[in-house]
Amino acid sequence: MKKSLSQLILFFLFLLPSLLIAQQRLLISTIQEDGFQHGIHFEKEVSSSFFLSEKIKIVTTFPTPFIMLSGYFEKENFNPSLFFRTFSSDKNQWSEWQPLSIFTEGRTVGRTVYVGGEINSATTYLQLKSNHPIDRTFNLRLFAPGFSKKNQTASTRNPSDICACTQPNFEGRTDWCPSGNCPPDATPQPTEPTHIIVHHSAGQTTSSDFAAVVRSYWDFHVNGNGWDDIGYNWLVDGNGVLYEGRGENRQGAHFSCMNKNTTGICFIGNYENAIPTAEGLEMLQNFIAWAACSKEIDVLAADFHSDSNTNLENVSGHRDGNGLPNSCSSTVCPGENLYPLLEILRDQVSILPCYQETVASANELLENESINIFPNPNFGEFQIKWANIEVTDIVIYNSTGQEIKRWDGSDFQNSFFQTSILQKEAKGIYYAKINLKDNRSISRKIIILP
Ligand SMILES: [Zn+2]
Repeated sequence: MKKSLSQLILFFLFLLPSLLIAQQRLLISTIQEDGFQHGIHFEKEVSSSFFLSEKIKIVTTFPTPFIMLSGYFEKENFNPSLFFRTFSSDKNQWSEWQPLSIFTEGRTVGRTVYVGGEINSATTYLQLKSNHPIDRTFNLRLFAPGFSKKNQTASTRNPSDICACTQPNFEGRTDWCPSGNCPPDATPQPTEPTHIIVHHSAGQTTSSDFAAVVRSYWDFHVNGNGWDDIGYNWLVDGNGVLYEGRGENRQGAHFSCMNKNTTGICFIGNYENAIPTAEGLEMLQNFIAWAACSKEIDVLAADFHSDSNTNLENVSGHRDGNGLPNSCSSTVCPGENLYPLLEILRDQVSILPCYQETVASANELLENESINIFPNPNFGEFQIKWANIEVTDIVIYNSTGQEIKRWDGSDFQNSFFQTSILQKEAKGIYYAKINLKDNRSISRKIIILP
């Protein structure tokens, strides 16, 4: 009894006043019509070295799969380290402090932008802190995308005249933002892509509602970064669904201030940590095949890119822009687990029949050089014969781009080669990719009859 009485006295002496102080610093923020923005100030916490914001109460007025957390200072290169924590009604406790990362994916004129990513929709309080005194307002932005309607119909466009690869079905803007609250750039800058730039979003990799994720990127790019529209031309999710962002032949905001003559596709997720899904990669490959073929971009070549003033691989990752003459940022995008796959995607697209029919490869044979496969068609037994070239290796792929067999250069003493290796394979179309010592790579179709 005595003990509980002393606890009660302690409560009134110390805990209750501190609760009251916390209540006085409480700010009630209702997220209505998707977004909420509020100016935050930091004050030194008594008896610690931290500078804390008020506790922000969050009330969402409609169900939402998550809340996107971002914010900015109205000054460039003003980048004190910030942290945030959340109190959610489902866990009934404060989370650990987590870093609010500085956005480095592109230029944000007049702003230093921070991103916390998707936070729990059951969050009821949010607090920020810094290790340093901050003498200016932090503009906190919270965006609740709401749940998307299911069973959207995917859009298609008229097939391009010049391209044999069909455009993959995609979700257009009216599919991922049916409310019309994510309007396109009113004055888009047209551009003719010569290069395809692959990104990751560095956000959450899995979601039950990727259309909501795309809406939240639109809000972050437009209202957080101050851009004219969502930065990417296209996005693909882990389920293999393609989304039209800015769309084709429009200059986006994704390649470190070198956006002219590029189209940017973002694989939603963080591939520094996660592994890209097979479905997402398949769609990325189909997209690259269509984009390259419809714009006659040679996926195996590195052509001059005027905005970066560099001979740039025609299919590049965002990080390939690091350190180039006109680059304005440095990034690990598209992540350690996605970036190395670009090499395989280029190779696989290069041997797709639809691509080969359309794009004149830079890797062609000269007049006195030859590669012949005979008989072709065949029943699985054929010869590859060549003249006036130095072959380093031969790789056989099936029609979906899977490697079936590889021989390295040491197997070839003569310029003559015979195999029955495909005899047991099913009938169908195969491709031999013949790599030459001078780095050219020649593809030839092999047809196996039943
Ligand atoms: Zn990127």
